Order: sequence, then structure tokens, then C-alpha cells
Amino acid sequence: MTKHEADTPGHSPGFEIAIIGGGITGVTLALALDRRRIRCTIYEQAAQFRELGAGLGFGSNALRAMRVCDERVLAAYRRVGRHVSGPPSSTTSTGTESKVGAPAGPVWIEFLDGTSPVAARELAPAFTIHAPADGHGAVHRARYLDELVRLLPAGAVRFGKRLHEITQPAGDGKLTMVFSDGTTARADAVVGCDGIKSRTREIVAAGLKNGEEVDARCGYSGKFAYRCLIPMDRVVEDLGEARAREPSLWMGPDRHVLTFPIGPSGPGQLLNLVAFVDSGSRSWPSETSLTLPATREDVVRDFRGFGPNVQRLLGMMQATPDRWGLFDLVDRPLARFNHGRILVIGDAAHASTPHHGSGAGFCTEDVAVLASLLEHLSGGAASLEAAFAALDASRRERCQWLVASSRRSADVMEWREPGFTRGPPDFDAIRRDMETRQSICWDVDMKAMVRAAKEDLQRRINQLQASSELGPQ
Ligand SMILES: Cc1cc2nc3c(=O)[nH]c(=O)nc-3n(C[C@H](O)[C@H](O)[C@H](O)COP(=O)(O)OP(=O)(O)OC[C@H]3O[C@@H](n4cnc5c(N)ncnc54)[C@H](O)[C@@H]3O)c2cc1C
Repeated sequence: MTKHEADTPGHSPGFEIAIIGGGITGVTLALALDRRRIRCTIYEQAAQFRELGAGLGFGSNALRAMRVCDERVLAAYRRVGRHVSGPPSSTTSTGTESKVGAPAGPVWIEFLDGTSPVAARELAPAFTIHAPADGHGAVHRARYLDELVRLLPAGAVRFGKRLHEITQPAGDGKLTMVFSDGTTARADAVVGCDGIKSRTREIVAAGLKNGEEVDARCGYSGKFAYRCLIPMDRVVEDLGEARAREPSLWMGPDRHVLTFPIGPSGPGQLLNLVAFVDSGSRSWPSETSLTLPATREDVVRDFRGFGPNVQRLLGMMQATPDRWGLFDLVDRPLARFNHGRILVIGDAAHASTPHHGSGAGFCTEDVAVLASLLEHLSGGAASLEAAFAALDASRRERCQWLVASSRRSADVMEWREPGFTRGPPDFDAIRRDMETRQSICWDVDMKAMVRAAKEDLQRRINQLQASSELGPQ
């Protein structure tokens, strides 16, 4: 059932994977499988690749995962990203020795009191969180996706294919996908990378309940965000060189603003600004859209009570920014990431609010583990199902931790979480809490994670072989 050959570049297993969705997760998976000579096709609902939004921060965990996926993914990130690392240390590319807060690490984010009347040039940070010495970085989403897409082999994508249904045979045999345009396609296994509104997640959740209708949709977290990109030169002029270029988080009651530069420094560099607001309600005004139109006046009104630095930054927004509802799976975590040979990864499996800056990094970790599990399989329904079960066992707890922790972290930074709210904010307690949680995100040993998942898969395969040798009782 398995071939335990060493990494053989020419190895081409006899199965084909369907990938639903061509976002960062789906495209990275296609590249990681292509590098392992595993046949796959992306089915994307849109007419072309498209990344909405602005900047994407990546921690050291994401970089380690990129390397496991495919060196070309890491190279793509390096071409378009702004990466900051500390002085060289003894840390290996996949090691965990380098810790959050280590003095050698570069600044991740400087946290500031957003309500302070002191001008940005004179205002000292309330505290600073350092990244591990191997650093962190940020990319422009669309540019990063473009770089990845460029590497896809010809014919890897079918556009205009919106997944509607999947039928999965009980034993061997291919699965059939039905798309909204009435066409069908077949594959040996399906990986849903279809993001926050994942149809594949609904199919997996229903399958786990024997076909019962289940609500597997993400829920509104109660928070929304305004996002924009501002030319860096403008911000430097207003807030000064140091504050403009240093990643900064402006804290305040029930709201906060995050700014960081994206893309290589120099002319054309942009500042990514995300202004988060707690709406005080768990109901989002639209049934169908995650974004709603807004005006700059809405933003300014929402941040009344913040100091002049935040007001200046928000004044640089475009006249009609979008308001993005932040949805996640805190209230409806999946019981498993797979049902048989249908699997979800990325936001489809663990959509999260963005407060650890790690959603896409965790998507990349998923891909690294999944591709590593598949590279040793020779196929067969049972072994593909075992690989998906091993992925679930390896990843679910960590990813669902991120979803819950991200929501909580926002409440800590917005001085709402019990224990952080009394009197003037306890910045030291906030720092310690954030450092501990960021460390869980970043200080991960990808090689060990992949090794453990492969060992688990091997045990599952051995059990399958033992039971097939015993035959029916
Ligand atoms: C405000 C904000 C800031 C963030 N900041 C960061 C950050 O700094 N760092 C970080 O790591 N992460 C961050 N994230 C999270 C990150 O953006 C996501 O985790 C990541 O983009 C998810 O990628 P994905 O490919 O899984 O899903 P998506 O990007 O949503 O891609 C899903 C794809 O599937 C397609 N699709 C959907 N349904 C179907 C269907 N039925 N059939 C076929 N195709 C379908 C879609 O068209 C889309 O192309 C942030 C998120 C938000 C909202």
C-alpha cells in the first residue's frame, strides 16, 4: 500500500488530487504537490486568480513551512516580501531554539497607547514584542499570489468551477465533484481550500453527521476592520521616519489600529493599515457579504476618543474604505478536518480572526504537512483516507487553538478581557500574555511536526495492512 522509498524526484504516484479553491492555500498546495510529482488540478470558482485586501504578515513558522512545501514558495516570498531578521544565531532553518522576545530578535510590533495626546515622534512604546531571530516579514497579498501562480504548471487550473456537491464511493473508486455550471470532474481525493465560506467544509461536516444538514458556517466575531494601503512617503512626512516604518499597534478601549510596511523599502513602499472595531453586537448586517461600504467619516467617528496620531493615520485613508466583517469558527469548530477522502485545510478548516497575524502562515503549515504525507503514498482509497486522518490528527488542535486565541488576543489588546481591564491598562501583563501566545505561533519545529505526522500515518497503514491480512472475521 505504501512505498517507503526515499525522496525520489521522479516518483509519480498513481492518484490525482482535486484542489477546491485557488487562494494562497490552494496554490501553495498545487506547487507542493507538483514538486513531489503528484498530479493535481485546482478548481476555482472565479474567472481568474484574485487576492483581496492588502498586507499579509508572515512569522518564522510560515517561512519554515514554505521551505518544506517547496523552496520555490520561499523564494517567491523573498522576491516580493519585506523580511526582517535579527543577527545570525545558532538557530537552524527548522529549529525552535530561537524564541520570541529573545533580545537578538527583530522588532515584531511596537505597542503604543493610541489614546495618548503625545505626538508620534516623542511617544515611547508601551512595550515591544520581538520576533525570533530568524525574523518575520510582510507581503502584498496580490503580489505574493501572482509570484506563486507564475510557478504553476500549464493546465493546473480550471476557472469558473464553483463546487456544489461531492459524491464519495464507499470503497475504492474516484470521487465525483459537481459544479454549479452543471459540469462534473473526478479525482481520487478532494482537498477543500475554499476559504472562509467553504462549501467543502459543509460537505465534510454533513458527512461526519451521516448526511444530516449541519450549520458549518463561520460566525461573526463581533469585530470588523477598515483596511487600506497608504504611500509610505506620506506617513513618514506626518508621523516621522521611525514611527512610520516600524510595525506599530495603537491600542485603545474596544478598538485598535495596526500599521506595518509591506514590500521592499524604497520608493513605492506602502503602509498597510488595519483599523479594528468591536461593534458590541454578534450580528452582522448582511447575510451574503462579508464586506460593506463605509466612508472615512465612519472611521473617524468609530475612533473618537483616540489621540492625534491615530486620527492622523485614519485621515490618510481613502474616502470610501470597505468595512470587513471578521468571521471565524470559534463557535462551530469542525469535529474533524476530513470525512473519508474529502479534506479541508487553510481557512476552510480553521478560519480565524487575524489578531495573531498567522492565518496564512497556518495555512502554509497545513500544506507542508499534507504534501509530506502524500509524497510517500502509492494510492488506494484506504491509504489516502489514512493520510487525511493523519493530517487531521497533526493539525486540528493547533489550528483550533489559533482560532480561539486570536479572538481572545484582540480583547486583551483592547483592554476588554477580564484581568486586563481594571484601572489603567496593565501593559506588562498584556505584553507577557501576547509574548506567550505569539511564541506558540512562531516557535514551531516543522520538521518534528512532519516527522510525527508521518509516523502516525505509518501506524495507520500498518493497522490497515494487518486488518486486510486477517480478512473478514
Ligand atoms: C483583515 C485580515 C488580515 C489578515 N492578516 C493576516 C496576516 O497578517 N498574516 C496571516 O498569516 N494571515 C492573515 N490573515 C488571514 C489570511 O488572509 C487567510 O488565512 C488566508 O488568506 C486564507 O487563504 P485560503 O487560500 O485558505 O482562503 P482564501 O484566500 O479565501 O481562498 C479561497 C479560494 O477558494 C475559492 N472558492 C471559494 N468557494 C469555492 C467553491 N465553492 N468552489 C470553488 N472555489 C471556491 C475562492 O474564490 C478563493 O479563491 C488575515 C485575514 C484578514 C481578514
